[in-house]
Amino acid sequence: MTEPGGPGGPDGRDGRDGRDRGGGRDELRALRAALLAVEELRGDLLRLAARVVALEDELTRRLPPAEAAAVTAAVEARTPALLAEIQAADLGGPSRLQLGLAVDKYQVPAPADGGPPCLELLPVCQARCCSFTFALSTQDLDEGVVRWDRGRPYLIAQEADGWCTHLSRAGAGCTCYAQRPAPCRSFDCRGDRRVWADYERRVLAELPAGDAPPSADARREAARGHELALALEAAALRARPA
Ligand code: SF4
Ligand code: SF4
Repeated sequence: MTEPGGPGGPDGRDGRDGRDRGGGRDELRALRAALLAVEELRGDLLRLAARVVALEDELTRRLPPAEAAAVTAAVEARTPALLAEIQAADLGGPSRLQLGLAVDKYQVPAPADGGPPCLELLPVCQARCCSFTFALSTQDLDEGVVRWDRGRPYLIAQEADGWCTHLSRAGAGCTCYAQRPAPCRSFDCRGDRRVWADYERRVLAELPAGDAPPSADARREAARGHELALALEAAALRARPA
């Protein structure tokens, strides 16, 4: 995904791949997905509020005032750590808004040795890396070049074949090379079991190759990154457009 002329390579176009996905229909689907997500969240919050009020009522009714106050203090003390755990667990949910890491993609370095020789390997690898699902960042969204899946904000848009919508099916590489997202800039497939069963012998992995479930530490780190990305996204949306 890093070598010019490979799947991550430029083809001289302006970043749009020319496919007509229905224009306004795409935007309407995105708006509907956003409204649905808000409505579902509102329902979840109301159910949670009812449960908290019921618990508080039970405590107040059953405990002497001093003990009830001690329980309240203990609950408040535990809340931050529990919230972090819940956020980490929740991040894997299917309907979460997904945002890429809050990094400047133009500062993301390519692999130190230049990465794999994509042009040479393309007949074998078939641009496997461009079939991976990942989230766009606020920077990508602000640029408005790289397309995202209108039903699953903000995952990279993919065609029915499962490959990125920006990958030229005519073999011309990445059609948004200059603005390609951060994951496309730093990816190195050589040790990635989703791509290669044996890189040295050029043996491609079977499709589909399942991902290993993330560790608890990785989930916590992802949740922290998600919170940071959300803060950046909120700041970008609230800023007055230039
Ligand atoms: S799978 Fe590897 S070799 Fe093939 S295009 Fe992607 S990064 Fe290059
Ligand atoms: S934007 Fe799409 S086509 Fe371009 S390098 Fe990334 S995954 Fe591949």
